[in-house]
Amino acid sequence: MNKCIFLDRDGVLNRDKVDYVYKKEDHIILPGVVDALHNFKSAGYRLVIITNQSGIAKGLYTAADVMICYDLLQEACGGIIDGIYYASYHPDYNSECLTRKPYTLMFEKAIAKFDIDTAQSWMVGDKERDLVPARKLGIRTVHLQCDSHKYDADLTVFSLLEASEKILA
Ligand SMILES: [Mg+2]
Repeated sequence: MNKCIFLDRDGVLNRDKVDYVYKKEDHIILPGVVDALHNFKSAGYRLVIITNQSGIAKGLYTAADVMICYDLLQEACGGIIDGIYYASYHPDYNSECLTRKPYTLMFEKAIAKFDIDTAQSWMVGDKERDLVPARKLGIRTVHLQCDSHKYDADLTVFSLLEASEKILA
């Protein structure tokens, strides 16, 4: 079985915006992220992004835009990310969906595909809804704190680089 770092996207890998990140020029990778991804990869972790992209449901952008941003990140880190799962649903626009965080389906798909041992794995997110599904599945949680909100997590950090240093210590 494999160990995995599950990663929320906006606010963890790239700078978050008040509205949505879907244009190339708005996709700004946060400081230390590329180094952190390499640290995790060198330590044998799979890297999987799990992201809600309800802007697709709202008609603001398309799945192709999500993949363009993913390709930019892959380019920056040398293609070491193993996969991305995104939820294109929103209860107010198309449907309530078991894919969308805080539900667990995106995680479960990744766990099956990459044969992941949840007990050896971590989820890094900046919102409570990132951590809820991880707790349910027995994945350890890292809250990347980006404002005054504090959530119950196994680790609290202020950057992905700090998360890599603490997890790999
Ligand atoms: Mg986020």
